[in-house]
Amino acid sequence: MKKKLLLIGGGHAHLYVIKKLQEEAIDAEVSVISPSEHQYYSGMFSGFMEGLYEFEKIRIHIPTLAKKANVTFIKGAALSIDAEAKVVLTEKGDIVPYDVLSIDIGSYTGGIDVPGVRQHALRIKPTYRIEEVVSKLWDADEPVVVGGGAAGIEMALSLHAKRRSEDAPVTLVTQSTLLAGETEKATSKIQEIAKEKGLRVYEHEKVSNVTSSHVITAGGKQIAYDELLWLTGPKAPGIFQTSKLPVDPQGYLLVEDTLQVREYPAIFAAGDCASIKGFPKLPKSGVIAVRQSKVLWDNIKSFIKGEDGTRFQPKQSYLSILSTGNREGLLLYSNLSFHHHLSWKLKNKIDRKFVETYK
Ligand SMILES: Cc1cc2nc3c(=O)[nH]c(=O)nc-3n(C[C@H](O)[C@H](O)[C@H](O)COP(=O)(O)OP(=O)(O)OC[C@H]3O[C@@H](n4cnc5c(N)ncnc54)[C@H](O)[C@@H]3O)c2cc1C
Repeated sequence: MKKKLLLIGGGHAHLYVIKKLQEEAIDAEVSVISPSEHQYYSGMFSGFMEGLYEFEKIRIHIPTLAKKANVTFIKGAALSIDAEAKVVLTEKGDIVPYDVLSIDIGSYTGGIDVPGVRQHALRIKPTYRIEEVVSKLWDADEPVVVGGGAAGIEMALSLHAKRRSEDAPVTLVTQSTLLAGETEKATSKIQEIAKEKGLRVYEHEKVSNVTSSHVITAGGKQIAYDELLWLTGPKAPGIFQTSKLPVDPQGYLLVEDTLQVREYPAIFAAGDCASIKGFPKLPKSGVIAVRQSKVLWDNIKSFIKGEDGTRFQPKQSYLSILSTGNREGLLLYSNLSFHHHLSWKLKNKIDRKFVETYK
């Protein structure tokens, strides 16, 4: 009897696996579970915010991709995994059996336990909320973004570019400096860009409370808003802890460099939801999920054939390009930074190519 390969989530690495299945059949019946029929590509969210991309350009229809690969699409969200019985329970109450399981469900939004955030702030994740979130921010008079990482900065600068209003700039609040996880050079470059573009930035202001009209910081600042976007970094999905699977201190699923759970080698994971032993500082980014795709595909195939898999070896540095508005981008690679239209052009080319591959 054919083995059952179950893919949870339509993240970057699973899109690759499904695409590969269009080209190469494996000895397994394959299904994919996703709460939305679409996979939204976050690399293009800033361009969508700025009005540069139409909605259809930033998303991939998973059932169409799956059908061409003879993969069954199951609409739903996985709620828990029983690794002993090899079944997945979905939120609708379905029990889906597997022989081989692969998880690529991304991450959720961190910091939402700050009082008032759950009630009042907009969140992008799950990413199928993007259209609604963006349209609310477009209509806002006093939009505020909380989060000074790459995602928060990009979204704030893109919204600022879209509004073209010097009298009512977008406000960004962050508890540290902008791009605190990057080099000092990157931080000072983005500070300079934000200033030049007229973004109103509050650095070193930790938000302690959110009311229906104000963001209140531990330092006593009261910042008025009518729409608030909360983008303070990733948080692990709860499914691993409830399923009693091994996790790292932040709750991400712990995998070997073969992307397999040591205790349950029939379980694979890639992208934001997984932490690779030995590489705890690997950033949660789409670039990493893309890099893991080939290893995931090769190792799932090897596992089904009973062969050894290959190992994921992270690179020292990854290229990242932040859209800064008006078709400009800040390219960061190792110690290099380059702010120019050409950086944005490169980002635009990479991102469009990614989505086109899976259309
Ligand atoms: C605004 C913004 C901009 C960003 N820009 C960039 C960028 O330019 N470059 C970059 O490298 N990174 C960027 N990132 C980070 C990037 O979004 C993530 O690191 C990346 O999406 C992770 O990919 P993934 O494959 O792990 O999961 P995702 O792309 O998040 O996909 C996971 C999928 O799993 C589904 N899912 C979730 N829970 C379940 C469940 N229980 N059952 C079934 N399915 C489930 C989700 O609906 C989703 O479709 C950005 C993030 C944000 C918020």
